[in-house]
Amino acid sequence: MIIYGTKPVHLKTIENNIVKCGNCEKQGHMAFHYFSSHFHVFWIPMFPYRRKGGSSCTNCGEELKPKQMPEHVKRAYKETKKDVRLPIWQFSGLALIGLIIAYSFYASGQTSDLKDQYIASPRAGDVYSYKTEEGYSTLKIAEVTSDSLFMIPNEYEVESVMGVYKLDKPENYADYMYGISRDEIERMYADSEIITIDREEN
Ligand SMILES: [Zn+2]
Repeated sequence: MIIYGTKPVHLKTIENNIVKCGNCEKQGHMAFHYFSSHFHVFWIPMFPYRRKGGSSCTNCGEELKPKQMPEHVKRAYKETKKDVRLPIWQFSGLALIGLIIAYSFYASGQTSDLKDQYIASPRAGDVYSYKTEEGYSTLKIAEVTSDSLFMIPNEYEVESVMGVYKLDKPENYADYMYGISRDEIERMYADSEIITIDREEN
């Protein structure tokens, strides 16, 4: 469940000593109040979407929304509004999303660098997940020679790429191996038939 909504935040109250109250006609008692609502997801402010506000008179207590204000009060209200800035934290969700996107680009770049490295210098024990004709399975490197990889096939396969990691158990591997030329492995990798490469670093 995603919790989202809007939340009004008080930005600023600015007193105005020049404008006369439209109700009690006293000067020097007007205050303008400015609010900004922001859209939030799980209470993280994403972006401001609407500004609200009003006036109040400390003498007679009259409170007005902008459309209820007499013309001269409204003019002053709008003029003062120009000095009220939106707080930058109301954009923090957008900033956070930007950071996450930037990080995921960085992380996927790192992952493919590592895969390139593993393909270029294979090691016994590396596990490749790859596309079969109807699904996905794994191959484990048993031996590396200068032109071939000797692979132990997994005897099982899964339909979904998401489940392929579950296949990587010792009891699932066959008791034989076969050689695949390193050129062929590189072709499979270039054609994205090899999905992941797992290496246990020690
Ligand atoms: Zn008043």
